[in-house]
Amino acid sequence: QSVVNRIAAGEVIQRPANAIKEMIENSIDAGATTIQVSVKNGGIKMLLIQDNGSGISKEDLPIVCERFTTSKLKSFDDLSSINTYGFRGEALASISHIAHVTITSRTKNDKCAYKASYSDGKLVSTQKSSGPPEPKPCAGNRGTQIQVEDLFYNMVTRRNALKNPADEYHRIVDVVSKYAVHNTGIGFTLKKFGESVVDVRTLPDSSDIENIGAVFGQAIAKELLCVSCENTKLGMKMNGYITNPNYSVKKFQFLLFINHRLVDSTSLRKAIDTVYSAYLPKNTHPFIYMSLEIAPLNVDVNVHPTKHEVHFLHEALIVETIQKSIEDKLLGCNE
Ligand code: ADP
Ligand code: MG
Repeated sequence: QSVVNRIAAGEVIQRPANAIKEMIENSIDAGATTIQVSVKNGGIKMLLIQDNGSGISKEDLPIVCERFTTSKLKSFDDLSSINTYGFRGEALASISHIAHVTITSRTKNDKCAYKASYSDGKLVSTQKSSGPPEPKPCAGNRGTQIQVEDLFYNMVTRRNALKNPADEYHRIVDVVSKYAVHNTGIGFTLKKFGESVVDVRTLPDSSDIENIGAVFGQAIAKELLCVSCENTKLGMKMNGYITNPNYSVKKFQFLLFINHRLVDSTSLRKAIDTVYSAYLPKNTHPFIYMSLEIAPLNVDVNVHPTKHEVHFLHEALIVETIQKSIEDKLLGCNE
């Protein structure tokens, strides 16, 4: 059974960056206004995330890593929107099957924090304690700290596949950068554990365009145009920033959020690149940040959680609508 769980968990969490994404989403869901991430050895040795959100109560700590444990399914109606991103209540469970997880958390009602360690979904005793495992009182601020150590310690092939910590760190920087831009109202930091240099930093009160400047550089931020479009019939609304037609980057930077989840859409990516190809030098691309809201029922529920690729109802029409709004914007610039 535990091998089956482990394999299933390895499907959900394939590398440190997936685990970070899940934990960032949890911190956002918990209403955090600061999220601090630090990692050791590309996250393979350790991922540490600290937020100032609602915290997890002492009573809930023993079960948060059990499969299908979620505090977010409030009513049956929620199912449609919750299913959108699959596997609700599976992230922490999965992580605890393939790594050593320690959670320290304090809610606003508690006088101190509580600390708990997990293995294979279950609470385990920490060193030197006798009796059944239980969360241990300790010092700590309001919010939650989750430490994930030795990812895939029990899956040799998986672990060996993560042989390049620099590459894994790069993927973490990518995920944190994108969430940091999108989530105005939350200050993010990312750094390597034990180092003082911060690789990503945003402030809780800066705008999305200020976030782009802070994370991707002022050089890009000052080239941005604002775009938006809406189609109530299709149940969609888009807001974003795109680089002007006289500016380009080597690698297509596409920050796409659908209903505040980081995703990718090949059809949208291609449609946008096509519009720009009329303006940009060969083999160069735009920088695009786009927040798309689509009625949750219209987003494909069958997409595997690790595949960022997403499909949605009326995809061709929606892509066309967005493409048109970008085309118009670029045309307007060159007039
Ligand atoms: P889900 O997010 O789908 O509910 P997870 O496995 O990601 O499932 O998390 C399980 C539960 O643990 C959440 O529903 C939430 O109650 C709790 N939780 C996880 N991370 C945090 C956090 N940073 N702050 C507060 N609660 C958290
Ligand atoms: Mg979650």
